[in-house]
Amino acid sequence: MVFDLDGVIYRSGPSGKKAVGESVRAIRALSKRKIPFCFVTNSTGSTEDEKAEMLSKILDLNIESSRVFMATSPMRELAKRYGKKRVLVIADGEEQSNKLATAFGFQNYVTLREYVKIRPALMPYWKKKKQIDSVKSTKTPEKISAIFVASEPNADWFSSLQVLLDIVTSNGETIEAFGGSVSDSQVVEIFFGNPDFSYPATHSVPRLTCGAFRTCLETLYYSTTGGRTLKSVCLGKPERHVFQSAFGSLVRQSNTPGDFDTVYMVGDNPASDIRGANRMGAPWESVLVLTGKSERNSKENPAMHVKKNVFEAVKMALNEHGGDVLE
Ligand SMILES: [Mg+2]
Repeated sequence: MVFDLDGVIYRSGPSGKKAVGESVRAIRALSKRKIPFCFVTNSTGSTEDEKAEMLSKILDLNIESSRVFMATSPMRELAKRYGKKRVLVIADGEEQSNKLATAFGFQNYVTLREYVKIRPALMPYWKKKKQIDSVKSTKTPEKISAIFVASEPNADWFSSLQVLLDIVTSNGETIEAFGGSVSDSQVVEIFFGNPDFSYPATHSVPRLTCGAFRTCLETLYYSTTGGRTLKSVCLGKPERHVFQSAFGSLVRQSNTPGDFDTVYMVGDNPASDIRGANRMGAPWESVLVLTGKSERNSKENPAMHVKKNVFEAVKMALNEHGGDVLE
């Protein structure tokens, strides 16, 4: 079984993450029976190790990081592809940007503030606020080959949008470096970890996340270029890559490698969890739970099963496949 996290295993709020839907009982039931399981989340901002540690505390069960797949996990492979080429890594602040860029293995990256420190004219008001004085980096200007949005820049949307727009409308240099006009075509690739527009938190209305940030950039690009569409790649669910990685984890945990009657994807988001599992086809089956984003099955991306919560989903899976009945 494969589980989404936010809205399935826990919900996030001001006082931290709280388990929902009897998730502790559900995951312990699988662990006890040695049924392969893993987690696939579109949340970003942390490494797989950090996520596994947090999950272990919530579930009071040792969860290895090899069971955790995040929307940004494919960036490790992309870091190898870009090698020594200069890339810009955006996350929530300098500390997180440096942490994630290093964890993914980017060899030649700059953060937002490093990029602006080299080109202070891009952010006139930063100079006044001394926002770049604390940046110690001595990196020199280089053409940007790609942008990686590893997490939404929570406190820095305006500055991030301005700089990303500068780069995607250029040839990778700043616009000033090639004559002050907008490039005829998009040269710089841009990768987003999480495609989700919003996520369920303890507040009754979902909160904006990386997909909403992408929508802002697409709108600015459209207006600036006279109607062109920004080309970008999203790495998380519903794309196939992360489902294939999760399947690999289940195979490694199984005594009968790859020979699964059914792989259940349990999620709360029809557009990412359910759509992704439906697109994978057999043996994948989608299960929507009602503890997060959704109150009912979706018309656009209907789940094959709908259950009240994750415990009911696990109960159904065990009952359908000859396991002992959970009460
Ligand atoms: Mg979710």
